[in-house]
Amino acid sequence: MAEHVPIGRLQVLECAGCEQVFTWRTKSCRRPIWCSDKCRKRTLYSGTCVDCGGRTDGVASGKTPVERCRDCSNRRQGDRSRQVGIALLGELEALYAEGRPIAEIAQILEFTTGGLNAYIVRHRAKGANLPYRRNNSSAAIAAWRRGRKQAARLHAAA
Ligand SMILES: [Zn+2]
Ligand SMILES: [Zn+2]
Repeated sequence: MAEHVPIGRLQVLECAGCEQVFTWRTKSCRRPIWCSDKCRKRTLYSGTCVDCGGRTDGVASGKTPVERCRDCSNRRQGDRSRQVGIALLGELEALYAEGRPIAEIAQILEFTTGGLNAYIVRHRAKGANLPYRRNNSSAAIAAWRRGRKQAARLHAAA
């Protein structure tokens, strides 16, 4: 740097990242070009969010840009657990429609019978395809009744 500014002088600088002006008191070290370290990382390592096209935050290690902004990454995580929930519910609905006993479904889906019953009640209330009697074939109803009894027995034994 050619210019000689006495140490301790307050300078007004423009950040190379956010272009905001910031003040800096002259030190013997190099004149900063970033208003903050956060701004440096953000500018150098931030990328474009693959989902919304917004800006992503830089990462501390700063090797590669983050591919998703925090909002989209949170939303994606939520979507994933929602998808797992939807897949599980779909499987339950299919097994339920087959007229399988609750205890058997519980075993397949790795629920306790009580837990599955609660799950069914909760999702039925939300509009899931888990009616009290969906299949009208007598065999299905018989199986369903057996399931209910078995579930009740298991429930009582538990
Ligand atoms: Zn800045
Ligand atoms: Zn985004």
